[in-house]
Amino acid sequence: MIKAVRGTRDLLPPDTELWNFVEHTVREVFARYNYREIRTPIFESTELFSRSVGEETDIVSKEMFTWEDKARAASEKTQTLTLRPENTAGVVRAYIEHELGRSGLLQKLYYIGPQFRRERPQKGRYRQFFQIGAEVLGPTTAGSELPIRDAEVLDMLTALLDAVGLTGWTLYLNSVGCAKCRPAYNQALRDALENVKDQMCGDCQRRSETNPLRVLDCKVPEDQPIIEGLPKIADYLDEGCREHFAQVRAILDTLGIPYQVNERMVRGLDYYTRTTFEFTHGKLGSQSAVLGGGRYDGLSEQLDGPKAPGIGFAIGEDRLVLALQAQQQQTLAPLKAFVVPLGEGMNRHALKLAKQLRADGVAVDVSDESFRLKKSFETAEKLGATFAIIVGENEVKADAFAVKNLTSGLQTTVSRSELLGHLED
Ligand SMILES: [Zn+2]
Ligand SMILES: [Zn+2]
Repeated sequence: MIKAVRGTRDLLPPDTELWNFVEHTVREVFARYNYREIRTPIFESTELFSRSVGEETDIVSKEMFTWEDKARAASEKTQTLTLRPENTAGVVRAYIEHELGRSGLLQKLYYIGPQFRRERPQKGRYRQFFQIGAEVLGPTTAGSELPIRDAEVLDMLTALLDAVGLTGWTLYLNSVGCAKCRPAYNQALRDALENVKDQMCGDCQRRSETNPLRVLDCKVPEDQPIIEGLPKIADYLDEGCREHFAQVRAILDTLGIPYQVNERMVRGLDYYTRTTFEFTHGKLGSQSAVLGGGRYDGLSEQLDGPKAPGIGFAIGEDRLVLALQAQQQQTLAPLKAFVVPLGEGMNRHALKLAKQLRADGVAVDVSDESFRLKKSFETAEKLGATFAIIVGENEVKADAFAVKNLTSGLQTTVSRSELLGHLED
């Protein structure tokens, strides 16, 4: 038997309904904030990710699915391609390639789609996983750098979590500084690590030289006490970054959005600057982040594009769905009625009635005239239908149907014209 590859999975009904509900809600809420959808390819040049996400990140150094795309013609170079491990790089590439900044307006873009990382499979973590994300970026003259953008993104996320019905989340906030003040912090980290790195894991030893900020991502338990004692970024922010962070927090206070500052949160991507954030949810255990994001001023220039500051986030859709399931959200419309043809020649009448009800927006399924009444009722209950509607010869003649409420067991006769109202009550 051929099975789905480890770390991948099939999404089956009824779970897919919850996924659709989440995605539908995303489109609705994001549209209210004037975001439009973008769809980028699921694979890109490997270079796009190594130059944006960063060589020393876990993602680029360990987790990418990369292959050589053989040259088709002698004139072509063989290129290395990678299944996208995240979508911000692709969106920024598209922004540069299509010169989206030329309008002078902010670009507010969102995406929904699969991403790929070679991760050790664990609860809520998959090698093909789904992200819902958004980016707001544009020329500085459009206000892309301003704290209001950060606050609006966070406001939209709280609106979304409310709309899907997730409760009990915590928003963690930090500032990781900018290209001007980060070098001083990196130096302070390097100095502090000099004496302790020998006691740390191999990754930390290497990163303390190449990219000390990434030491803060280390998950090795033995390294945690050492990491706790390292210098804090907050003490190294320059005036501009401190002021920016203070303004973001002031707007959140005005909007009544609760948050906690977490000085260790640097997020596992090199391109972040200034504001970084995470929403966590208690029902997800140790892997508690449902979504995360941050500002990435300078990323566009890093990819040879124009100056285009921006901020964005990615929601782990798999984990959001898991959190909603843990909350046992009753967000789905169940099957309303099961139409039961009773006796030979009744199938067509049953299907005609079902067609009428479906046209009125009612979720209906249909039995078969070869079924006995008992089997039809059993099937209706298995499907979770609220009503069974019997279509027999007498019913067709009278144009009125026996309607059984499967919860209460009560059966009444209802005329065709009154049927819709009866089911809706
Ligand atoms: Zn700074
Ligand atoms: Zn370590």
